[in-house]
Amino acid sequence: MATLRFLGACGTVTGSKYLLEAGSRRILIDCGVFQGSSELKEKNWSTPPFDARSVDAVVLTHAHIDHTGYLPRLARAGFSRPVYATRPTAGLLQYLLPDAAHLHEEDARYANQKGYSRHRPALPFFDANDAAGALRLLQPIDFHQRTEIAPGLAFTFLRAGHILGAAFISFEVDSRRIVFSGDVGQKDVPILKDPETPDTADHLLLESTYGDRLHPEGSPREKIGRAVAETVARHGVVLIPAFAVGRAQDVLYHLGSLQRDGTLPPDLPIYLDSPMAVSASDLYTSTLSEHDLETEQLENRGVAPIEGPSVHLIRDRADSIALNGRGGPMVIVSASGMLTGGRILHHLKHRLPDPETTLLFVGFQAAGTLGRRILEGAHEVRIHGELVPVRADVREIPALSAHADQHGLVEWIGSLSTPPRAVYLVHGEPSARDALAAVIRSKPGWTVVLPEEGEAIELE
Ligand SMILES: [Zn+2]
Repeated sequence: MATLRFLGACGTVTGSKYLLEAGSRRILIDCGVFQGSSELKEKNWSTPPFDARSVDAVVLTHAHIDHTGYLPRLARAGFSRPVYATRPTAGLLQYLLPDAAHLHEEDARYANQKGYSRHRPALPFFDANDAAGALRLLQPIDFHQRTEIAPGLAFTFLRAGHILGAAFISFEVDSRRIVFSGDVGQKDVPILKDPETPDTADHLLLESTYGDRLHPEGSPREKIGRAVAETVARHGVVLIPAFAVGRAQDVLYHLGSLQRDGTLPPDLPIYLDSPMAVSASDLYTSTLSEHDLETEQLENRGVAPIEGPSVHLIRDRADSIALNGRGGPMVIVSASGMLTGGRILHHLKHRLPDPETTLLFVGFQAAGTLGRRILEGAHEVRIHGELVPVRADVREIPALSAHADQHGLVEWIGSLSTPPRAVYLVHGEPSARDALAAVIRSKPGWTVVLPEEGEAIELE
């Protein structure tokens, strides 16, 4: 008998955490934080309904903070057992967790200065020590290597695409197989190998981020090419807000390929202005075993697919500020992807009033973010307390997504030789989850469950 507790990502896309209890063993699959609205974020502070010291292991699908950002809190609460992750995921976490700690410490400092927090004094959600404590527990495991946690309890990581190192997890509990999809990527995208597919599952947890959407037809590469070429022609600046891990590297890859085929000038300066994105790019470049054939072929020809010859990597703040003094044409890729913070805000303050500028969105803009407000046509926005007019050309390329769409998800589960006893839909807003549920239920023999947060389900 095994029980699965759904502790997050039910009716929302963040906070992934699932507690698998089998006999006397307790395994946590993913250990993420809630992100987005203040109500969601407030949930991170409540104590989880289990004793951290009673957990035997954590197994991670991938490095994104909404799947890993609770680890430092777990370590602080006394958890001291292994955290299993693929090698690239473990590599990314070496940057991501300390960076998150730094941001939490800054937030707390700022809240204390301004006195706006309900907590007096405001404390960081976790600090650098907690992050280091979590990193010490990491145990890197290769893809496809079956790892036994206890007798009758084993797991295997298989490739999920999505971002570097992302896995779906096939768990064996006695004679049953439970598959956790993690975040499923798209096929035929640059850099990373395609997602693999599960062949059997008695129980399947499936993400549903884009469960109600189909990615638009047409290549995102061409759309990027058109937007950048038009801006270059008027000597303007292209600002691309991008998530530091995954999206920034995809964008650089596309720009490099557009330079090689002559769509864009080979000497067009491209600045990657985000210390986290620079570290992530280095890791992407050095993790050869994860690259797809196209990337491999470029490398064999001596071409750098991500950090091309006209790409400038910017870590220092002073170098970032110096970009304000430069004219176009040039491209600046910077974080954060939804304009919720980071260096991109300084560039926006400086460049949004200029009609020569193109602001090119390449990722999902959640409700309530500055990115969403600009995308919805705001003529004026407030950045760091200052009113900034929006005169730049604002464009969006929606097909460039790290998630499979409804077709992709249905195709992914179509590889199963027989329907599982149940598909549990997680990691999706209610409308996305309902739409995907309807499509899967229309397949003969398939059962879909929409778990509620906090619910415990017996896996027969
Ligand atoms: Zn993810």
